[in-house]
Amino acid sequence: MAELYIDGEWVPAAAGGRRDVVNPFDASVVRSVDEADAADVDRAVRAAARAFREEDWARAPVRRRADVLFRVSELLRRDVEEIARTETLDTGKTLTEARIDVEDVAAAFRYFAETAGKDGGRVVDVGPGVLSRVVYEPIGVCALIAPWNYPLLQASWKVAPALAAGNTFILKPSETTPLSTLALIRLIEEAGAPRGVANLVLGSGATVGAALTAHPDVDLISFTGGLATGRRIMASAAEGVKNIALELGGKNPNLVFADADFDAALGFALDASFLHSGQVCSAGSRLLVQDTLHDRFVEALAERAAAIRLGDGLDPATESGPLSSAEHRDKVEAYFAIAREDGARLVTGGGRPDDPALARGFFLRPTVYADCERSMRIVQEEVFGPVVTVERFHDEDEAVALANDTRYGLAGGVWTSEASRAQRVANRLRHGTVWINDFHPYLPQAEWGGFGRSGVGRELGPTGLREYQEAKHIYQNLHPAPSGWFKG
Ligand code: NAD
Repeated sequence: MAELYIDGEWVPAAAGGRRDVVNPFDASVVRSVDEADAADVDRAVRAAARAFREEDWARAPVRRRADVLFRVSELLRRDVEEIARTETLDTGKTLTEARIDVEDVAAAFRYFAETAGKDGGRVVDVGPGVLSRVVYEPIGVCALIAPWNYPLLQASWKVAPALAAGNTFILKPSETTPLSTLALIRLIEEAGAPRGVANLVLGSGATVGAALTAHPDVDLISFTGGLATGRRIMASAAEGVKNIALELGGKNPNLVFADADFDAALGFALDASFLHSGQVCSAGSRLLVQDTLHDRFVEALAERAAAIRLGDGLDPATESGPLSSAEHRDKVEAYFAIAREDGARLVTGGGRPDDPALARGFFLRPTVYADCERSMRIVQEEVFGPVVTVERFHDEDEAVALANDTRYGLAGGVWTSEASRAQRVANRLRHGTVWINDFHPYLPQAEWGGFGRSGVGRELGPTGLREYQEAKHIYQNLHPAPSGWFKG
């Protein structure tokens, strides 16, 4: 079966391009898929533009769109095992995490189905004789570009609100992890989305992604990925003055005060740093520990990090999988030399595992650096691997100053047993999400996104729907009469 989905049909790439999708656990080929080019992108955008104009979608009653979204949510739950397995083969993440991702995605579809018609706009009171209304309408054709770390989840945070608002879209997953997205599009088809409303193109960022963002018939670009790509996409969008939403990287501080619950803070510091081998945009990869607690905390963290069981994501005993690709592992590995040159102290990890069973996969050992300084590259740059840096702080003011000393601003954590301090610090942090005595939870109902260079706009929550809508003011004079402005 062909893997591009354009105008309601599964079609092969016009030029016959193919790409192997690789399992990062052992470098085996999971499957070969179609690889699109600019001509396929053009067909997909035209299909989405036609569907936006002609199909019963943008102007259909909200109920019709909500029904499709509810159905997708149900189908995701029906197929959870198969899709989770696909995600594990594609990304290397554990099956447990992949199952949670699918459940979260189903919840996001439900949320946007429920939210779709809730805000019907508002009436502006200008007195008798005038009816003034603000209404929200779909933007049009959306180009949705997703990364490889949470392929299904990040795509769905775009697809669900785009559909709920009545848009049509062309989705491009990462070329390294397209398989769960294929499954999602099949479910959207099964759920009854009209022809041309949902389109899928597969291929590289440089060819397919760039053609998509540059296409003149695209009205909105929603992108999740790295800072450098985000910059390029923003420049491309400027040419056509397109709407844009960017979810970019993070270098997220995790602040542990001496009065925190030690075991809870320690457990979550591990999750924050090493979940999915640290390939999480909100990874708490910059740990800040109060000086009186520092040595004991770092020692325990390193001991627990060294004990993390690496392996095949399909094996229930595995606690963390490999990095996503050989290229990405190379990139993360290069930071070991950078950290050494910067003078960071390696406490554990810093290389590949010795276990021969892992030799073919793209593994790195969970790594902890201590004695880190805010000026170090390893502290400031997003490594996106199983690497955590530890800095000391003396008091609240210093903790906040360090945590805000980043060009990013996606998320941060605060660990303390003093409620008033927790709230004070949370209020002062310049990050899009702040967790107190927790790390990583997000909710479909609550906005997600970054301050600073972590992005532009928000996903999830009411704002996540608004990103896909235009506001229109309709002003009606109920008693028209000559204005008398010009006398002649
Ligand atoms: P990436 O920027 O390399 O690629 C992301 C997507 O953009 C891929 O589909 C890729 O093919 C495409 N792309 C690449 N070049 C393009 C171009 N010139 N034009 C159009 N599309 C192009 O990012 P990645 O390595 O896949 O993902 C990791 C990054 O994503 C990390 O920086 C991570 O922090 C970030 N991320 C952010 C969030 C968030 O919610 N803020 C969530 C997940 C990941």
